[in-house]
Amino acid sequence: MGVREWLREREEERKKRANGGNDGLPEGVTRYVRLGSELADGKVFALLAGPDDWYFYHVHEDGDFATRTTYVKKHTCLHSPKDVGADFGEFAKRNPSVCLSCKANAKRKLYFMVPVYDFEYRTWRILDLKEFHAMNLIDDYDKLEKAAKKFAKDYTLVGDVVLIQKTSDGKSYSLTSADIDEEILEEAQKFIGTDEIKYAELANFRDEEDIRKFLEEAAEVDDSKVDVYALRERFAEPDDVDPKF
Ligand SMILES: [Zn+2]
Repeated sequence: MGVREWLREREEERKKRANGGNDGLPEGVTRYVRLGSELADGKVFALLAGPDDWYFYHVHEDGDFATRTTYVKKHTCLHSPKDVGADFGEFAKRNPSVCLSCKANAKRKLYFMVPVYDFEYRTWRILDLKEFHAMNLIDDYDKLEKAAKKFAKDYTLVGDVVLIQKTSDGKSYSLTSADIDEEILEEAQKFIGTDEIKYAELANFRDEEDIRKFLEEAAEVDDSKVDVYALRERFAEPDDVDPKF
């Protein structure tokens, strides 16, 4: 591959990321399921992995829902796993030596990506869930699986159909069993264990300069939300500084 083609590919990748990774999906549809609108009336999916195989990562975000104020714009904590199966303990605490937002003490939250097959678009998509919502879905998941195991010991919800829906109080999501044609389900099951899902790309790890911008914006809105002193020290030289010889 020549340098031009390589640069073109990199540019394509950047565009893809900016679009929320909607490659191969209709205009306006992203790999991320829009929880608020798409799950309001419930939507049927096939689960492509069980909770132990859900990708977990951390984000920094801080805002006030009531007044719709954003302090720290949501971004992935650089001290997060790049793939499934990581050790929780290794990433449980902030790591100021690899992540500027950890260093600046920005609020840090645990998130999960749940891989599902979307029957409407006939491909995989992701439910990006806060810890609280993931916990609720896991509760439902365990109840359903436990009930089914009474009749079939080896039953698993992985590869089966579920309805995921906003709860009636609007505060979280529920997971219940659902039905679909066997033939359609087989199509979905081919995506179990697919290597098409690149979690680290979906998590969109940003570079330090981007993160610094978010933190500076947060400090402008309310300087109690981040430790501004941490921003003064640089981890890495910015791109446009001449090397010192
Ligand atoms: Zn961090």
